[in-house]
Amino acid sequence: MIASRPALVSFPDALHAVLEAVPQAAVVEVALRAARDRVLAQPAFASDDIVPFARAAMDGFAVYSSDGHGPLTVAAPAFAGSGDAAHARGTATPIATGAALPDGADAVVCDEDSVVNGSVVSFVVSPGAGDHIFPTGEDARSGDLLLAPCRVLSAGDLALLAAAGFVRVSVFRRPRVAVLCTGDELVDIATAPGRGQVRDSNGVMLSAAAEECGAEVVCEQVVADDLASIEDALRAAFSTCDVILTTGGASRGPRDLVKEACERIGVRFAFTGVAMKPARPTAFGVLGNKGVFVLPGNPAAAFVAWHALARPYVTAAAMRKPVRGRRGTLAAAVRGKTGRCVFVLCELRTATPGSLVAVPLQNQCSSLVRNASRARALIAVPLGTKELPAGAPVDIEVLDGSDA
Ligand code: AMP
Ligand code: MG
Repeated sequence: MIASRPALVSFPDALHAVLEAVPQAAVVEVALRAARDRVLAQPAFASDDIVPFARAAMDGFAVYSSDGHGPLTVAAPAFAGSGDAAHARGTATPIATGAALPDGADAVVCDEDSVVNGSVVSFVVSPGAGDHIFPTGEDARSGDLLLAPCRVLSAGDLALLAAAGFVRVSVFRRPRVAVLCTGDELVDIATAPGRGQVRDSNGVMLSAAAEECGAEVVCEQVVADDLASIEDALRAAFSTCDVILTTGGASRGPRDLVKEACERIGVRFAFTGVAMKPARPTAFGVLGNKGVFVLPGNPAAAFVAWHALARPYVTAAAMRKPVRGRRGTLAAAVRGKTGRCVFVLCELRTATPGSLVAVPLQNQCSSLVRNASRARALIAVPLGTKELPAGAPVDIEVLDGSDA
């Protein structure tokens, strides 16, 4: 047991210390097909016009617009995929959508406006220059910036990069995360718990949450409340991972050994407790440029500590944008607590379109895993605030990033 640890730090100081410790993300190359949901590390420029030739936008006839209604002699057809074709004045070249416009032609008349009579065609419209043509470089010109760094790549982005010829792309390496759930009472979710045992629900919660913000979870493990076992698990995790999330054993009881195990393997703590409720025993430390979060075991407390402190770190390590608080109002009064910043788990309602209302969960007890499922948002009652009344304007952190 460690006899004395520094006093609690304020929540803002804790968050500041956490964010200061975020290491610079490395850059890796991945195949384009594997780049969805990855964060682009370098600007992507077009090395050519996209597409580098003018194309027919409709099935029809390529013409000189100055040849007017016709009748024109039907020439050999131009299909998509065929290369340069020449086009003679006084003729109409049958053309398929996407085919390169034959040299000289400056308009396409669509089939619907064409009347074919044997080897000649006339038109019911007067073609204008540029009609039904996709011009050269319509999507992008050579040298254009296609995508800026730090963009989280979508399926549509991959399409654009494919069109520009990117076979591989440079993305930020995902932070590798280990989740270690400590507790002699924990059993695997596939095991029926005996008396005194509970299923490990924090493991899957934190792994899924870490993946949601761009991490790669490489290890999720239950560890006994035993100093040597915790030390071994921490050492193994530090050897392969960038971030370690532990739960349980974070307080000061005789079986609360995680902080001691961390110190024994050389972790330097930035703080070992935070003036917050719930999750006061939350600690954060570093070993080299790797971070470890010691989170409480109670599921709703671990959930709050994840969102309030660990998630901002993992999100920044993944080079993703932080979740922005949204302004809204509070549906019911919530009380503060002397000396602490109180986090309140809430459901969400939209009163009128665009206006968000946070509805505090009735029972904020940190042992309730159900609260982690119910909560869609988190609000904070800052240190020194006795109460936020019903209707008060508040900053709402929407947990799943959606609108409501
Ligand atoms: P501790 O922080 O170790 O004192 O644990 C506090 C409470 O959280 C206890 O009731 C534990 O059984 C429970 N708990 C700890 N770890 C987990 C976990 N991984 N999944 C679900 N409940 C847990
Ligand atoms: Mg315990």
